[in-house]
Amino acid sequence: MSELNSIAPEADATAVRALFGVKRERSGMQHSLVPLPARLLNRVAFGMTECWHWMGPDNGKGYGRITYEGRMQMVHRLSYRAFVGEIPEGMYVLHRCDNRACINPEHLWLGTYHDNMQDCIAKGRHVKRGQKK
Ligand SMILES: [Zn+2]
Repeated sequence: MSELNSIAPEADATAVRALFGVKRERSGMQHSLVPLPARLLNRVAFGMTECWHWMGPDNGKGYGRITYEGRMQMVHRLSYRAFVGEIPEGMYVLHRCDNRACINPEHLWLGTYHDNMQDCIAKGRHVKRGQKK
């Protein structure tokens, strides 16, 4: 994570791509041939905040998703795998920043299902249906 810490919040996409040695995706290139970090970074808007704001398709709930390894996957989980490491089975990738569109690996942490629920409750997202007036 030390390399990531050296990125200033205002770092632009070019600098981040350079850091990870990825090139801009060329049109017409097969998706499967484009490395995962490039696929992720090409659809991120940098510079507004420290968050890496995903600009690609989402699942209707604010979580970005793309087809990778032949199936639909959440981009924040893919970002964790691309920039941090593999996700142990059964673990959840959670947001420190509470921004579902964010895929900044510094804002992601591994938690259990229990952690996820506690996090939701702490942030006031865990509202049961019918509870709102
Ligand atoms: Zn964030």
